[in-house]
Amino acid sequence: MHDVLTRSSADIYRSLIAQTSSKVAARIAAASQPFSGASRSELEGLVANVDLDSDGVGTPRALTEIDELFLEHAVWFHHPSYAAHLNCPVVLPAVAAESILAAVNTSVDTYDQSTVGTLMERRLIEWTTQRIGFTHGDGIFTSGGTQSNLHALFLAREAALTRIDAPRPHAIAKLVVLATASSHFSVGKSALLLGLGDDAVITVADDGHGRMRADALAAAIDRAEASGRVPMAVVATAGTTDRGVIDPVETIADVCDRRGVWLHVDAAYGCGLLVSSRRRHLIDGIERARSVTVDFHKSFFQPVSSSAVLVREPRDLGAGAWHADYLNPLENDEPNQVDKSLQTTRRFDALKLWVTLRAMGPGRIGELFDTVVDLAAEVSAHVDADPELELIGRSQLSTVLFRALPAGTDATTQDALVASVRRVLLESGRAFVAKTVIDGRPCLKLTLLNPETNLDDVRGILEMVKDAATTLAGISPDLDETMDDLVGTEATA
Ligand SMILES: *Cc1c(COP(=O)(O)O)cnc(C)c1O
Repeated sequence: MHDVLTRSSADIYRSLIAQTSSKVAARIAAASQPFSGASRSELEGLVANVDLDSDGVGTPRALTEIDELFLEHAVWFHHPSYAAHLNCPVVLPAVAAESILAAVNTSVDTYDQSTVGTLMERRLIEWTTQRIGFTHGDGIFTSGGTQSNLHALFLAREAALTRIDAPRPHAIAKLVVLATASSHFSVGKSALLLGLGDDAVITVADDGHGRMRADALAAAIDRAEASGRVPMAVVATAGTTDRGVIDPVETIADVCDRRGVWLHVDAAYGCGLLVSSRRRHLIDGIERARSVTVDFHKSFFQPVSSSAVLVREPRDLGAGAWHADYLNPLENDEPNQVDKSLQTTRRFDALKLWVTLRAMGPGRIGELFDTVVDLAAEVSAHVDADPELELIGRSQLSTVLFRALPAGTDATTQDALVASVRRVLLESGRAFVAKTVIDGRPCLKLTLLNPETNLDDVRGILEMVKDAATTLAGISPDLDETMDDLVGTEATA
């Protein structure tokens, strides 16, 4: 019986990982499209059919099943026709490191569970704060940008509460957060989780391209204060999820400094700029933030999860410290990261970034991110020049927003085509694009994060979009009904 990874099963582990990685390698090499195109009902059947209560079948057979169930139908972010969400193909040193941390199973909550791992995580936090430009700075790895934003806004709330002379519930009800309509939804969700009022997130006007207007921010702060509210934080987004634009951090920081408001910069998407030699200036001023979110699992090409929240003032992180006799006794001077984290047991995700930086160097990561930003600019120009496509806005990062304009269609049909085109492509498995809403109208979105994808690959996706749109618009005015037919023909094509 060798179910547990111990000294006596180390050899089994070695061959198991070798067999597993060759299965995965075969799938990665063979993937001819980003998804099999299996229907949802087919997948539901496959999942429901597995008997999770039967006696175990043994690891080799369980993995063969997974090859057929999961790998066969996985969505492949490394495929050049995957261009939907902020998912990246992963760099090899990080994947190798992931297998190390899975086997060692370090938890970086306390020093006595991780020793050198804690020190390595701290060194990477210091590295990140230096890239940001904080003089001292501190931070913690998190599960993702959502958690980082929640954590930062929690710290901002606690800092704001120390300045309000009222019982806690009354004081919390006064707090507001200011952000543009393009900020990530986790800002609103955090406000809910932090117990702020329903009207606590104030939308600051943008410049028409999705970037916050600093004058509108100042006016919104004035209005909030005039009505008795207390601005708890301004969230500037360095790389909005849809438009890929960057709020003017420097001028926003001027406003925040003058008004004494906590500035949080959500650089979940734009953090790759920290290592870009050509575009670092786009986030100038980020060092004036009180807190910053970075998602290494977006623009640093790291496997999920790998993210961090950074603070300019190390003492700010203390707001969440809590003591448990069994974990972090007060008389203990060990560097217990649990004091700084919302989590307790926590993955040693930092190891992946560590190995990546050592293997490739930060400059290489920056080049990879610059490559996808360059590609998005090329693709935008291509879309703009195509009369059958309409380019919407210009990303400063790697998204491309657009709509298909089949000949003879009006705006209502073009809007309706957005959802159907996306679905047809998804169900064929041949290409993945996302859909979103910009200025009240639906549109398609490409998020380009694969440095090996080139313009021809993306042209291929755009041709599929145009074909689907033309077919859908031509077959029948009722797009939903015709789609099923179309999906059928695509799947057998
Ligand atoms: C993706 C994203 C987030 C959320 O990050 P997760 O890692 O998905 O939790 C937050 N903010 C922005 C701007 C993002 O693009």
